[in-house]
Amino acid sequence: MPDHGGSLQTVEEALDRLLAGVGRTDAEQVALTDAIGRVPSDDAVIAEHDVPPFANSAMDGFALRADDGSVPRRVVGESRAGGPPAPAVSPGTAVRIMTGAPIPPGADAVVPVELANERGDVLTVSESPASGAHVRPAGHDVARGTSVALPVAPITSSVIGLLAAMGMPEIAVRRRPRVAILSTGDELRSIGAALGHGQIFDSNAPALAAAVTEAGAQAVVLERAPDEPEAIEARISDGMPDADLLVASGGVSVGAHDHVRTAIERLGTLDFWRIAVQPGKPLAFGRIGERPVVGLPGNPVSALVTFELFVRPMLRAMLGMTGDGRVHVPVRVSEALAKDTPRRAYLRVHVEHDPDGDGYRATSAGGQLSSQLLPLASANALLVVPEGLAATQPGSTYQAIMLAPIP
Ligand code: AMP
Ligand code: MG
Repeated sequence: MPDHGGSLQTVEEALDRLLAGVGRTDAEQVALTDAIGRVPSDDAVIAEHDVPPFANSAMDGFALRADDGSVPRRVVGESRAGGPPAPAVSPGTAVRIMTGAPIPPGADAVVPVELANERGDVLTVSESPASGAHVRPAGHDVARGTSVALPVAPITSSVIGLLAAMGMPEIAVRRRPRVAILSTGDELRSIGAALGHGQIFDSNAPALAAAVTEAGAQAVVLERAPDEPEAIEARISDGMPDADLLVASGGVSVGAHDHVRTAIERLGTLDFWRIAVQPGKPLAFGRIGERPVVGLPGNPVSALVTFELFVRPMLRAMLGMTGDGRVHVPVRVSEALAKDTPRRAYLRVHVEHDPDGDGYRATSAGGQLSSQLLPLASANALLVVPEGLAATQPGSTYQAIMLAPIP
């Protein structure tokens, strides 16, 4: 049954209900070179080889036997990285060695070139070396048979380096969720078109597609729908089969031309929620078959903020991750920033290091209307101001959700 009740839901209640039916996407193998930013589907990989595969030198110098002490040694050959095998080191001898080259049989220490003196084939050392000095043992980074834990998080360049060093050509990752994006509204035109009377550019489709990409999913922008129930219904039923999730924007309020809710209701099941959140009170959530559909409010800031709060965690859940993947920091606020008392506000702010303390402070990034994209575009955080307050209290600390780095 659609919920047209008068009470407002909290953000957490809404999020719990949105996440309840979300399943993870299947695993797929990708080449290591394509794995950056993808999320591993296995929680660990087993090392099939030692990394490094053989004991090698950490320095350019001479490989020798520590128990020969500081006596002069005869240099009997050379070991270089990728070169042919060097002769064994017997008592009283040494082998010239380069960084990364195998330690020859019989040697157990390396004396760096800076501490050695080679004249003809006679080597003298300024001090007697310790066994194991400047030797990198086989497997000292990753020992064969080790289970290497992979965090359920986007793969970084260092993880790619590690897997490459382990000799793994590919890795199993979650398939990127496919998200169909639908803009609705008679007033909308594509970028590049000439704007006629009462028309604006469709900014939600590119913005939401970018937010989908940023969340590690794949966006498919559907042909925009006018404010007609049949057209909206047709776009949704055409777009749905290839999508794991459909995100519509606009047309979810209670205006005479808001048809997204009815379209969802006709195609599947609908929940309509009024959420105690500012911006973005109305939110439509439905299912068409097993697939979720979310109808976001049309105002550009509302659309992006509700995407951040509700859709981003759904996409992360499909990828096997929890939470919003953002850094949350406590920030001090010295202004009284007004908000709607009963609702929790997510205000657009600049967070920076507090010049008067050890922590961070937030200042308003500009106008807080849900139609004002410029302040959101220049903000690096959303300031979370609880329900029940009419404004931020100067000098108080609130949580900020970081959207971009702190300068
Ligand atoms: P609605 O939710 O359809 O009532 O739209 C609310 C406000 O958001 C109106 O000012 C719309 O013109 C605007 N809006 C809706 N969809 C978009 C969009 N895709 N791009 C830019 N603005 C939009
Ligand atoms: Mg509209």
